[in-house]
Amino acid sequence: MAEQKLPTRAEDFSEWYNQLVLKAELADYAPVRGCMIVRPYGWALWENIQQALDQRFKATGHVNAAFPLLIPRSFIDKEQSHVAGFSPELAVVTIGGGEKLEEPLVIRPTSETIIGHAYAKWIQSYRDLPVLINQWNSVVRWELRTKLFLRTLEFYWQEGHTAHATFDEAEAETRQMLDIYTDFAVNEAAVPVIPGRKSASERFAGADQTYSIEALMGDGKALQAGTSHNLGQNFAKAFNIRYLDREGALQFCWTTSWGLSTRFIGAIIMVHGDDQGLILPPRLAPTQVIVVPIYKTDEERAAVFEVARKTHDALAASGIRVRVDEREGTSPGFKFNDWEMRGVPLRIEIGPKDVAKGSVVLARRDKPGREGKSFVPQEGLPDAVRTMLGEIQKALLERARAFRDAHTQEPTNYEEFKAAVETGLALAFWCGSSECEARIKEETKATMRCIPLDQAGGKGVCILCGEPAGERGIFGKAY
Ligand SMILES: [Zn+2]
Repeated sequence: MAEQKLPTRAEDFSEWYNQLVLKAELADYAPVRGCMIVRPYGWALWENIQQALDQRFKATGHVNAAFPLLIPRSFIDKEQSHVAGFSPELAVVTIGGGEKLEEPLVIRPTSETIIGHAYAKWIQSYRDLPVLINQWNSVVRWELRTKLFLRTLEFYWQEGHTAHATFDEAEAETRQMLDIYTDFAVNEAAVPVIPGRKSASERFAGADQTYSIEALMGDGKALQAGTSHNLGQNFAKAFNIRYLDREGALQFCWTTSWGLSTRFIGAIIMVHGDDQGLILPPRLAPTQVIVVPIYKTDEERAAVFEVARKTHDALAASGIRVRVDEREGTSPGFKFNDWEMRGVPLRIEIGPKDVAKGSVVLARRDKPGREGKSFVPQEGLPDAVRTMLGEIQKALLERARAFRDAHTQEPTNYEEFKAAVETGLALAFWCGSSECEARIKEETKATMRCIPLDQAGGKGVCILCGEPAGERGIFGKAY
């Protein structure tokens, strides 16, 4: 049992995270340094994330497709800032079938270029617009410092790529997808996020405007959890994506791209997890309810298992993701710890006394110990469980929001600012100059996370240089 224990978050947050990922069996290290094996439990969580997002994409008119993994090297070179941004991270294939290739092939770091190439062929007239395509895939970026889920050489994500007739339509699409990410984060993952605009220096390579959702982790560091880019006409010009407008004139398209990755699993771990392990929001949890039978004798076992299976069937029939832990040779205490490590939101304990009384014990993962326990009749259990899962989902969001708010300061001078970014986020006026942004980063290691879309209004002076400033930015040390 001792080796099941994690270091506490206060002791060593980073090691707590690393061990949690392994012990909850979300992912494992791969033979190639920096790569990740996503284990079935982690993948089931990702599948639920995919489903929640995919529904939202389709409801807004997007369709899925698949583009190739290999991209001609020359494609990457076509868009100047794109090549500058991605070149250091590229994995390149130079030999195929035992022969040196005439043109090296890049393993996609993202697919703007190859999709731009296809769009140039597919789009002829304004009638072909908009094109709204998403793909679920993995990409490779040769990262030097890696951490499971947060930054790996290969990671899984979705990348949406759209083409439009006007700037306004492209901008509306960019913002719509940011709203969808925000809605997903808040209402599915119970992760409160700050949607905002990136500063010029933090923009995607090749974008005119990048928007992101930013979340605060349990150690006070920020995590960029999803991005949406208005690519202007940059890729349209590089790949000649043009259309004939209503007047018969040739125009360049306006394109966007947007992505959310397995990194989001890292956010869920670091926002909700505690010293006992993972805590999953019920809406995304692969297993929402675990039933643990408790017995000593064979006779008790038979009676307890019968109720456990009935409970399972009743919950499953009402659409609740439920499992019975039927493992032999492990104590209930071991099973409790094991499922707590994996973050299952609700545990149902059934012992001989519960069988006799016609009730069960519900134990909430988000409230350890006596506080989270209640006795509920077996009669009408599915409704009681569904209500409680809803309460857990809500409680997780409220707790995360309270933590975030408690760790977001509004400093009025640079000294306060420096103190604020040591423990969390700082919301501060910024003059908009990249010099101030760079100096802040240099001196405090905090970066401009985003300029929140929701500006409280008013005018102030830059937290660093004291020049007049019209907008507040969110600063923090980031993953
Ligand atoms: Zn300034």
